[in-house]
Amino acid sequence: MRIISYSGNPQAVRLTAGILNEAPPWGKVYVLPVPGPPLMSFQYGEEIADLFRRYLAELVNEWLRCGKRVIPPGSTVWASGMGIPGEYGGGMEWTQYLVPEGKGLDQSKSLKPVDESDHAFSSWLWKVYWDYLWRFKPATWFNSFGEVFFQYTTPAYEDPDPPTALPPFLTAENSKHFAWLEAVLWFVLLLNSGHAHLLDRCQFCARYFVRARGKKRGQVYKRGGPSCGNCKGADSNERTRAIRETAKGRMLEAAARSWLVWKRSNRTPDRYATVARHVSAKCRPEILITTRRDAVEPLWVKRNEVEIVRRAEQLNVKVGGERNAKG
Ligand SMILES: [Zn+2]
Repeated sequence: MRIISYSGNPQAVRLTAGILNEAPPWGKVYVLPVPGPPLMSFQYGEEIADLFRRYLAELVNEWLRCGKRVIPPGSTVWASGMGIPGEYGGGMEWTQYLVPEGKGLDQSKSLKPVDESDHAFSSWLWKVYWDYLWRFKPATWFNSFGEVFFQYTTPAYEDPDPPTALPPFLTAENSKHFAWLEAVLWFVLLLNSGHAHLLDRCQFCARYFVRARGKKRGQVYKRGGPSCGNCKGADSNERTRAIRETAKGRMLEAAARSWLVWKRSNRTPDRYATVARHVSAKCRPEILITTRRDAVEPLWVKRNEVEIVRRAEQLNVKVGGERNAKG
């Protein structure tokens, strides 16, 4: 059986990142791949559009916090019942379980425990997600090839049942607002797109971005979290600069020592050449890092003479001081 979603395309991810990063131009119309009117949130002015963007960001951020999952791995939500769950009035038969995948309908089998420490376990996200699908059921049908289609409809014109689950930033009142309902629909379509895992948020600039490729299995972030193209470059440039600076510092230090002890002799008639030879002998890796060569020339010493002399004088004071202390 092949399950097909009309929203299945990578464009959904790029569009989502774009909307979250920047408010789209006023009056921009978004036509969702669902029957019904286009997205209304952007047609009623900036206030509602901002609300939509805020709600969508809440959904996406919570999803990222849960490791790009709606529920913990290996678990599935199974809900059944009639009427409204007790907590929200009405209170008819109702069950709602978080159970391991594939065993949800057969309670007789021993169940593998779900990791309750997983962020997704205690998150409001799956409850809200499930609640939305429950209230706005997608149309489902299949064709003669056995392909199954899901089709969602825009929630804007419907008068839905009261929600059974709310995120912490909503009340029953504003949960009916179409900015919220459309944000959840957008989020559902995003996950349906089949490319949602490419969406990420940069740990440095907090912008949303789309990866060229998904994170590899078992890949962990070396530096705390994902970073967008801009920040990755900035970050590594910063590191390269720091490494070069340290290397050059070591070379200047070696040069200063040699500068200090140099005495004109037949073997060492030229101070620049002597210092260059000394640095070349002592600082091979550093020279490679800073100049991409194996050795420095006397010209390098000449160019850095001011700094080398400054360091040599500092060294001289120190050495002199130590000598005095000994004497
Ligand atoms: Zn960034």
